[in-house]
Amino acid sequence: MPSVRNRPKLPIVAEATGSLGSKGAEAETRCTYHNRRGNASGGGKTMRDLSDAKHSATKAVWAGEERYLLEGATQVPIVQSIPFGYDDLDEWMGVALGEREGHIYSRNTNPTTRAFEEKVRALEAAEASTSFATGMAAISNTLYAFLKPGDRVVSVKDTYGGTNKVFLEFLPRAGVEVKLCETTDTDAVAAEVAGGCKVLYLETPTNPTLKLVDIERLSEAGHEAGAVVVVDGTFATPINQSPLALGADLVLHSASKYLGGHSDALGGVLCGPQELVRRVYHYREINGAALDPFAAYLLIRGLKTLELRVARHNENAMKIACYLERHPAVEGVFYPGLESHPQHELAKKQMRGFGGMLSFSLVGGYEAVKAFLPRVQFAHRAANLGAVETTVGPPATTSHVETSAQERAAMGIPESLVRYSTGIEHADDLISDLGSALSAVRAGTPNASG
Ligand code: PLP
Repeated sequence: MPSVRNRPKLPIVAEATGSLGSKGAEAETRCTYHNRRGNASGGGKTMRDLSDAKHSATKAVWAGEERYLLEGATQVPIVQSIPFGYDDLDEWMGVALGEREGHIYSRNTNPTTRAFEEKVRALEAAEASTSFATGMAAISNTLYAFLKPGDRVVSVKDTYGGTNKVFLEFLPRAGVEVKLCETTDTDAVAAEVAGGCKVLYLETPTNPTLKLVDIERLSEAGHEAGAVVVVDGTFATPINQSPLALGADLVLHSASKYLGGHSDALGGVLCGPQELVRRVYHYREINGAALDPFAAYLLIRGLKTLELRVARHNENAMKIACYLERHPAVEGVFYPGLESHPQHELAKKQMRGFGGMLSFSLVGGYEAVKAFLPRVQFAHRAANLGAVETTVGPPATTSHVETSAQERAAMGIPESLVRYSTGIEHADDLISDLGSALSAVRAGTPNASG
């Protein structure tokens, strides 16, 4: 049996057909034929032509599924099998060598996880994609796949708390030099990149203060320095933002958030050119951070309604941000859709919608936060985001639970901050709920002023 290192053509990641370039790849899959038993073979069912699917809503419903439908089923099955058996050694060897379609072992690939990867690949119009057990697995496997001792990585200060830990703790321990720049200072980031780096890692919008980074400008800077440019697009989703079209090499998501959308399945996904995605895939298959088929099934189901959900998240968050901005108990609102957001022009340039995430600081500091949270009725006080239900919490117990109060202060995250992940409830109900909670806090806050 050849070692994994010697499997040059194994179809390890979801890939577009050759006729589709990485930037213009549409929802077309590699055209194999499946017989009624679902085995890749010469006969059976003709693949549906999805190349006319131009819109995300259509891709989210149809992409990636056809080749995995069994016995006329209209839904992708959960293939809860670790190994895949072959009676014919030549066929087995062909799959192992990447000369034939198929799967060997679910830590490497699996039909249900492949269908999920393929759906996100179509939404990102990418050449290839691969999946992970969690968003953090997507992030750490991507970073470790490209970095080795002595290398340098440039990023920004406002990344998600877990990512920040990788930068401040794990990578330095592995001998990688890490430079974190002021998130919104594009010139400073570009200058650091020009000093040389292997990876430029960006997150936009950031968690929890909704800062933006200029993807187009920094991708140019990254490429001039020969760096791989990676963007965490979790907050924006492929519906609101397309980092690859703006010049980034790779885009990744925590699928545990908006992609799944129901707070019931962990996952991560990475999209980009074949060559780069394969490198990360190889690291992940050995590292063992594979997405579970049942989670993949739930994520596929969630993805079908992504476009509808994101439209409602965008609408609700905008209305709520406008309402909060005028409320006397609120000190400041962080939402890229507001004209008062310092990077609103950049948001209009690189986002199609401003997303469902916002944060706001309360007059009265942490005590006001403590008084406010229990009064909110239509929200889980919990550490997730991007779900159909509204979720609320302070950074200290959500996005930045891994960081100390001093670290949060250094990152410009005030203890008076509330992170609010707008669900798909009716905006009027959410606004009146927030209004009641804020009024009660204001009435009881000694230092509240008009
Ligand atoms: N990226 C962002 C922006 C996040 O907010 C999170 C989690 O909150 C992650 C990555 C990590 O995702 P996961 O919890 O799926 O590992």
